[in-house]
Amino acid sequence: MYDKSIPFEATIRWIKKDTRDTFTAALKINSREMQRAYRFIPGQFNMLYVPGIGEAPISISSSPLDHDLTHTIRVAGDVTTALSRLRAGDVIGMRGPFGSGWPLEETQDLDLLIVAGGLGIAPLRSVARHILSSPAPKRGEAHPRRMLLYGAKTPKDIIFRDEFPRYRDVFEVFLTVDRANPEEYWREETGLVTKLFDRLSIDPLCTMAFVCGPEVMMQTSVRELILRGMPEERIFVSLERNMNCGVGLCGHCFFGPKFVCKDGPVFRFSEIRGLMGIKEL
Ligand SMILES: Cc1cc2nc3c(=O)[nH]c(=O)nc-3n(C[C@H](O)[C@H](O)[C@H](O)COP(=O)(O)OP(=O)(O)OC[C@H]3O[C@@H](n4cnc5c(N)ncnc54)[C@H](O)[C@@H]3O)c2cc1C
Repeated sequence: MYDKSIPFEATIRWIKKDTRDTFTAALKINSREMQRAYRFIPGQFNMLYVPGIGEAPISISSSPLDHDLTHTIRVAGDVTTALSRLRAGDVIGMRGPFGSGWPLEETQDLDLLIVAGGLGIAPLRSVARHILSSPAPKRGEAHPRRMLLYGAKTPKDIIFRDEFPRYRDVFEVFLTVDRANPEEYWREETGLVTKLFDRLSIDPLCTMAFVCGPEVMMQTSVRELILRGMPEERIFVSLERNMNCGVGLCGHCFFGPKFVCKDGPVFRFSEIRGLMGIKEL
């Protein structure tokens, strides 16, 4: 095991602009030894460090089975702006992986409903790609449903738009946008992501939900799922809080009695029910 408080070097392999303010960067860990030691599960994040600027927690948006280790980043402040200016061949620091991941092993015999809003698709893309690259169930084995609901502000804000046709091989995919201009070619739903729940008939007792997006979107999604009879133990959300150390020492990301960096960012809703929605927590 290596020391996760010390960054190791990683080189940018490529950078792709996804939307006007979001881009995806593929990294290659420089040292062979670190390449062998580094293992992650979908839902975990890395601390990306730009020398002279600082570091920020960023979810891993690729699957452990992918060739590229990718992060999908929205330009927000100093670190993400500096990351957006990097080019292939530039070297940055990285620490991780950190945090809990999505409990994929619990979904084996259950239907899985993925609900993503905006940039919340990043850690869930890791799940979707992992499922796509995993062997399909054999005949006679359980063949659970895979459903993916994704909402963005406008059609131009949809991240990984070119990947959705492939997801449709395995997932029932439903997309929505808050608003679409008449001149934009948009034939899917318009409205909040929760509107998509009406398009699905789920069996609440045999379904597990993974939800990630802006906090208010997660709250309304969770409320809808509970109203539809889904047990709180089967609903998972991924939270974002300011953090520094990533290992539960500095206390920046305290969330009630829990650390988002160490106990999260993925939480079972039943464990944090009373804490979500409390301002400044
Ligand atoms: C577990 C986890 C996973 C994440 N995954 C991703 C991801 O995949 N992609 C991604 O783009 N982002 C992700 N984030 C969010 C990202 O880490 C933050 O946006 C980070 O702050 C960006 O760093 P920065 O230096 O660019 O911006 P900052 O300088 O930190 O600023 C970010 C924004 O927050 C505001 N802000 C900063 N500090 C404060 C403050 N004290 N009070 C009020 N507002 C403040 C700024 O004005 C700005 O709008 C994740 C965060 C967590 C905790």
